[in-house]
Amino acid sequence: MCGILGVYSPLGNNVSQKVMLGLFAEQHRGQESCGMAITDGTKIDLYKGMGLVKDVFTPKVLSQLKGNISIGHVRYPTRGSSTNKNSQPHVVETLFGPTYALASNGDIVNYTHIRKELEAKGVFFKSTNDGELILRYIVYLVEVEKKSIPQAIKEMMKNLKGAFSTVLLTRDTLYLFRDPFGYRPMSYGKLADGDFAVASETCALDILNPIYKTEVQPGQIIIIDKQGLKKSDENFSHKNHQHCVFEHIYFSRPDSTVFEKDVYEIRKKIGRELAGCDKDLNVDMVVPVPDSSNVIALGYAQAKKIPFEFGLIRNHYVGRTFIKPTQSVRDESVSQKFNILPDFFKGKRVVLIDDSIVRGTTLKKLIKIIKHAGADEVHVRIGSPQVKFSCYYGIDTPTKNELIANTKSLEEINNYIGSDTIKHLNLKKLKKVVEDDKNYCFACFNGDYLVK
Ligand code: AMP
Repeated sequence: MCGILGVYSPLGNNVSQKVMLGLFAEQHRGQESCGMAITDGTKIDLYKGMGLVKDVFTPKVLSQLKGNISIGHVRYPTRGSSTNKNSQPHVVETLFGPTYALASNGDIVNYTHIRKELEAKGVFFKSTNDGELILRYIVYLVEVEKKSIPQAIKEMMKNLKGAFSTVLLTRDTLYLFRDPFGYRPMSYGKLADGDFAVASETCALDILNPIYKTEVQPGQIIIIDKQGLKKSDENFSHKNHQHCVFEHIYFSRPDSTVFEKDVYEIRKKIGRELAGCDKDLNVDMVVPVPDSSNVIALGYAQAKKIPFEFGLIRNHYVGRTFIKPTQSVRDESVSQKFNILPDFFKGKRVVLIDDSIVRGTTLKKLIKIIKHAGADEVHVRIGSPQVKFSCYYGIDTPTKNELIANTKSLEEINNYIGSDTIKHLNLKKLKKVVEDDKNYCFACFNGDYLVK
């Protein structure tokens, strides 16, 4: 998963600070690396680094990045190893120097096939990242087949399969486009000072002071240049979309509006639905696995009219435990990530809420320490159905056989993690929560991959 950002200033303001701030608001979407490409109309400058936004874009670095059109990216690797080479934006040079830059969020399903086709035509790749494929495909169509950039984007959209919410920058124009199924979120807006901004999530637009914000529609191309903002006349949107439901459950920030729904409200509804399945369960309190499950747990507690308590305290400076390479390192990272409140759980019956179970690492560790601290009962409730299938559209899920729901029954998982009972929100209820379920992708739960 990744986050993208773009800013165009018609008045010629320097936009690097805004791009940095927007990326910082999207830090949760990727912590491996970040980058920014910026143009002042005469050249494109690129700056990328491994690590967090504020560590890479120091005031000194920012003072050297000047221009009125810029794109940025925070990366959480899906395709391609975690190296600076695979970080985005990608830039392509022509005889005149860097001419195109692109950043994308998603994953391309027919990556290998299209890359081979382009390589057979002599196109050269520097990385194994899907963003570079999108960029080189467009540049090939423009530079070799002499298509206009919008025509090239349209052709690319017809042939590349998968998820892409993308920003493309030239020396005078910013292009925004999104795959026809709308897998990943993408919104744009006009800011109070007249600049235009685009971001993966609305929380990044909000800190830039927008006067309006709205979604880039699936299959839509938006062009921003000195004449203003234009939407392409054709729209390649599919009749039904494939929004990633995991954006609502886990990935997006709760203060974002994603797929035209407030993430906070969706999560509270998930909590209420879970509570509805527990009419006969008597417990003393609800405890979330912070932070991703806080709002789900709040919804559950409000519906059941029982106390909501932060029994687990999270250290925010531990990196992502989930992506660590070995089980022992993942176990160790979970131990470093959470502490329990002293003398808090003794003699208590607890509902412990998490958004999902992937390998089972987090809950196994947490239940052990909660029980060790004297809890009488720990009932696990999960805000999503069982994750049984890998994601090919931009969420970093392990291979199918690493997913615990694939190798163990629910009862076996209950025993493995040490809970008294375990329940997931079922798919039918999740569909009820999102309402227009025909526009969502549930492939990680049911294996129904529409785009292959
Ligand atoms: P696990 O500990 O392997 O069962 O993973 C589940 C935990 O990781 C949950 O607490 C989730 O909040 C979190 N999680 C789920 N999916 C992802 C993901 N794609 N990337 C990072 N964390 C995730």
